[in-house]
Amino acid sequence: MSDEKFIHDAQTVLKFIQIYCNDKHKDAVKTDGLEKLTYQNRALHVEVKFNLCEECKKTFDISYRNLQECPHSEKPSCRKCPSPCYERPDWKHVAKIMKYSGMKQGLTKLKKFLKITK
Ligand SMILES: [Zn+2]
Repeated sequence: MSDEKFIHDAQTVLKFIQIYCNDKHKDAVKTDGLEKLTYQNRALHVEVKFNLCEECKKTFDISYRNLQECPHSEKPSCRKCPSPCYERPDWKHVAKIMKYSGMKQGLTKLKKFLKITK
């Protein structure tokens, strides 16, 4: 995949995990971190910041590594992927996070659209 696509996907997956962690692990000990994105052993000069609990950091590490190693030029939806890179329990966990944060974001957009403020 292109660098742009890789950066976009890495940022998206982190954003989703961050939303999930903010909501679900409010009381967990969190670590601030910075990841300099690399792809195919090249530095991309893009940094992503996170504030995640240990569990979510691990989830991000797995997702990020899988994304780096994704053999597809255009990454298909993981559900339809012919060569899934996630171990089954990991994939289920990531899918749960994506679903949760995706719905939450959809809701936020809808609220903005309808001009309903919290
Ligand atoms: Zn967390």
